[in-house]
Amino acid sequence: MCPEVAVTARTRRVRFLSLAVFLVVAGLAVGGSLGTRQVVSDQERKLLHQRTDEAALYLSSVFGSIQGEMASISATAALSKADPKAFAADNLLLTKVPQGFKSIALVRLGPPTQLVATAGASITDLGSVRTTAVNQAYAARTKALTGALVATPLFDGTGGKDRRLGFAYYAPQLPGYAVYAEAQVQPSVQSPATAGQPFSELIAAVYAVPRVQADQLIAATGAAGHLPLRGHIASAKSQVGQGPSWLLVAKARRPLVGSVASFTPWAILMAGLLAAVLATAVVEVLSRRREYATQVADERTRELQQSLEDLAAAHEQLVRQERLAAIGELASSIGHELRNPLGVISNALYLLRGDIAKRPDDAADRHLATAEREVSAATVIVADLLEFARQRDPVITDVDITGLVDEVMTVLPPPAGIDIDRQLPNGPLSALADRDMLRQVVLNLLGNAYQAMPEGGRVTVAVSAEQSGVRISVADTGAGMTQDVKDNLFQPFFTTKARGIGLGLAVCKRIIDAHSGRIDVESAPGQGAEFIVTLPALRLPHQQPHVDESSVEVQA
Ligand code: ADP
Repeated sequence: MCPEVAVTARTRRVRFLSLAVFLVVAGLAVGGSLGTRQVVSDQERKLLHQRTDEAALYLSSVFGSIQGEMASISATAALSKADPKAFAADNLLLTKVPQGFKSIALVRLGPPTQLVATAGASITDLGSVRTTAVNQAYAARTKALTGALVATPLFDGTGGKDRRLGFAYYAPQLPGYAVYAEAQVQPSVQSPATAGQPFSELIAAVYAVPRVQADQLIAATGAAGHLPLRGHIASAKSQVGQGPSWLLVAKARRPLVGSVASFTPWAILMAGLLAAVLATAVVEVLSRRREYATQVADERTRELQQSLEDLAAAHEQLVRQERLAAIGELASSIGHELRNPLGVISNALYLLRGDIAKRPDDAADRHLATAEREVSAATVIVADLLEFARQRDPVITDVDITGLVDEVMTVLPPPAGIDIDRQLPNGPLSALADRDMLRQVVLNLLGNAYQAMPEGGRVTVAVSAEQSGVRISVADTGAGMTQDVKDNLFQPFFTTKARGIGLGLAVCKRIIDAHSGRIDVESAPGQGAEFIVTLPALRLPHQQPHVDESSVEVQA
């Protein structure tokens, strides 16, 4: 896997891990918060029901004590045989209106139903509404309910705005009579019924019927605008006397479980989310550190691998150089040994040619030419061996390239079947070079061109002055070369020939490099080959070879 892809994949893993940690911790926080909220709200609901039940009980007990008061008034009335005079203003019993009531009266049940005596805000007239209310209450409950407190239905007093609630008590000792107490209903005003402890924590509404019915609202502890109560509410029925039960609807003024408990789910949620953020940050930091460490380790490993590769290459190079040095020594001694005999053979051939010239003989002339060519080829090989082994610096002089190339072509004439196309300048062409070395280069290129065309062909030798320097090109129409051969051409001892030693082009390259020049090849299989040597124009090579000034002077 490439390093960038590995790093991207690792970074993605880190992001995923951080996200997963955040989601898990945040999920636990939300879960914990919801669970706690459920527990708290269950507790709240339980407490609300409890308080509502307590309030309903309180309501019943308040009216229980009213029933007691009205029973004692009835007993007094029975003792006086319902004599109105017994209810004079100084009779404390009847003139004492129960707390929360406006008026109280002794009523003889009809028809016609009549007021016997009244106290408090005096009831001057029973009126049809009250009569009906008292009689209906009585009739509805039957005589079996005597001795019981009965609430009359809520009715409108005078003017329609004055809503009233009546209570009737039918005393067993006083048949045909009822003690009647009446209260003005003002739901928003605090009344004894809703003034007790259980109501302090509740917003409550009390209806004189067992259901929520706006026109039967008799007491409310909150503003009337809140009604009917909504949201978390509880209701309880309260038995007031023997009438239909009343309905108490209540809602908590503030959380009954306490503010700490109700804040707990939010606290758990906030703490959990904070923990999630912190845990994610810690995971992120640790992961990044790990990622950084891994990156550094990867980098070091890569560097180490590179160093190992460099070391292996250096080692190979060293072995190669040592081998070349050994071969070089061998080449040098062979070269030395062969140079003299070759010189002698060459001289002998020269003398022989002089003799044959006196007595012309075609066959002898041909054989002599073959011998001369082979001796030249061998001389070139020996020169290559010595050049390769010696590795000397070039001795620069002003060289006439035209003359040099011309001379080489004379020394190394083409074998039979090969034509030479000479494209040389008309006059001398100067370049700064080591003459012997450059001669060796041209000899090698020309020799290779001949060898590339065993079936014959054409060699084009061209010399020209270019802007980049002096250009020497040797092109043939031979077999050409594959890319693989082109890649290895200049390696010492690389050869594809059965009798080749593979030093010619290596020596050429070394010589041209020492002149700060270039040697290029253009070739393809079956397309022939062209070797192009470019020598820099009148400029000393960068390797600062020794310049033989005396020689330059002589030339000048
Ligand atoms: P040698 O001639 O001893 O093989 P060289 O260094 O002169 O050594 O040449 C190396 C190789 O380059 C040759 O064996 C040959 O394969 C290839 N070569 C050189 N010159 C030519 C050419 N003109 N045409 C085709 N191949 C060539």
